[in-house]
Amino acid sequence: MKHPFIIFGSPQIGQAEIDEVVATMKSGWLGTGPRVAAFEQAFAEYKGATVTHAAAVNSCTAALHVSMIAAGLEPGDEVITTPLTFCATVNAIIHAGATPVLADVDPATLNIDPAQIEKCITPRTRAILPVHFAGRPCDMDPILDIANRHGLKVIEDCAHAIESEYHGRKAGTMGDFGCFSFYVTKNIVTGEGGMVFARDEADIGRAKILALHGMSKDAWHRFGDAGYKHYQVVECGFKYNMMDIQAAIGIHQLARVAQNWRRRSEIWQRYQDAFADLPVTRPAEPEPNTRHAHHLYTLLIDETRTGINRDAFLDAMTASRIGVGVHYLSIAEHPYYQQRFGWRPDEWPNAMRIGRQTVSLPLSPKLGAEDERRIISAVNAILRSE
Ligand SMILES: *Cc1c(COP(=O)(O)O)cnc(C)c1O
Repeated sequence: MKHPFIIFGSPQIGQAEIDEVVATMKSGWLGTGPRVAAFEQAFAEYKGATVTHAAAVNSCTAALHVSMIAAGLEPGDEVITTPLTFCATVNAIIHAGATPVLADVDPATLNIDPAQIEKCITPRTRAILPVHFAGRPCDMDPILDIANRHGLKVIEDCAHAIESEYHGRKAGTMGDFGCFSFYVTKNIVTGEGGMVFARDEADIGRAKILALHGMSKDAWHRFGDAGYKHYQVVECGFKYNMMDIQAAIGIHQLARVAQNWRRRSEIWQRYQDAFADLPVTRPAEPEPNTRHAHHLYTLLIDETRTGINRDAFLDAMTASRIGVGVHYLSIAEHPYYQQRFGWRPDEWPNAMRIGRQTVSLPLSPKLGAEDERRIISAVNAILRSE
């Protein structure tokens, strides 16, 4: 019998989301309206803040882009980020007109290494863009200290880190801006979607204007029952607003965020225990006084220890009908950045090695006990047979 294929990062969509989307469509208000406002409010409350600190947008990439513009970045300004991230992080820096500068990761945490950030500071550095990789919070105390000493903005890429906490502080609330993703594989799903969180209310006001053409009033306020209101274009903005259809999904996903986190944590720990004797590098345990969002479970496959290389392992997992991911090849492996910035992967040796060895196993809250068993036995069979 052929097993069903276990899709990597399969979203868990409940009846509540389906009913809310249908209700949204029946309401006739599909675009940015009352459900986006409710989702922003609920998300802000989840972060322990008020709605004047949150702005829903249509992706994390958009959130990063408007955050950097709202942070006042200008052409020639340098933004320090990690080479172990999704390309969107670096592309957003470039789209904001700034220059990305990469600081290598700590090989144990896979997060940007504050000591490497320090080495990258120049007179043109304006911001640090840490990514809380896999949901493990970055070491924010030294990062915020560097930012304070050099007068830098901090923009947190929280695409993996909705639930993350560091020393009692929630991810996205420690820097000037926090940017969240609700893409289909993330911990909260709206199909496509994102959120900007800002510490300063004026920054959120600016992010909201930038996310809707630079208009001073949004459509909901213009066409509501209070009568038509003229808008003014106050800057050249973007078309980055979230729709009520997306927020309809997000509202119910957010209501289940803790439950889904517990389920992923359980699977994460089961993998940790099941792979303890294999010749692979497992993720480090979460640091004390932090909360890991458990967005990804990644193994490092070192061919000299396992006898099988990472890509062959990926193929063997796929042949076992299990979807796997790679998060990520180092940014410096991609031809665009090599050509534009002259980067070579070996300039960031930790990210290069990790990018060539890493594999992400399925960690969706939708996985059942039988899926878990199949994944664990496939990993064991592939790695023990070598
Ligand atoms: C997914 C992701 C993004 C982009 O999110 P979108 O919502 O798809 O734009 C940015 N950074 C990281 C680290 C991501 O994983």
